[in-house]
Amino acid sequence: MSEIEDLSIPSSPKVKSVTLMGALLDEMTKYSKEAMPKEAIGLLGGKELRTDELILSSILFVTEGDEVSVSFSDEDFKAFEDILENDCYCLGWWHSHPGYGLFLSQTDIKTHIYSFQLHNELSVALVVEPTKIDMNGRASFQFYQVIREKGSNSFKYQEIASYIQP
Ligand SMILES: [Zn+2]
Repeated sequence: MSEIEDLSIPSSPKVKSVTLMGALLDEMTKYSKEAMPKEAIGLLGGKELRTDELILSSILFVTEGDEVSVSFSDEDFKAFEDILENDCYCLGWWHSHPGYGLFLSQTDIKTHIYSFQLHNELSVALVVEPTKIDMNGRASFQFYQVIREKGSNSFKYQEIASYIQP
């Protein structure tokens, strides 16, 4: 997969599970539907429950766009800091894949490594699919971290288990 010359990405994920507030998934579903056919893009915030378990309690909608235009500015991170609760911080990003399923593209992998995971090893990437809605009206979704393939400089994504908190 992608060749990135940085070996500080581990070969197994640092995060074991993520708990997501249901209301946040409702919000991301709404932003993602409104942005269609473009992607909705934003930030994820929360804190560690334990060393390898995250609980996400805030999101920021940043912009809508396409895969290649996903990028975050210092102003985006600053705006997010302003709405985060005291002991919470930015723990990654989310974006939608309207109509093309749950995965991280090569561009997403690079965005995740350079904008998030190299700065905080607990950062996660969340993809939501607003054309696949469940019986609760929520988009299907999946959390990821990027890992290094053992014995090589190649990187790939790994799914992270997740739970919805009502
Ligand atoms: Zn993507």
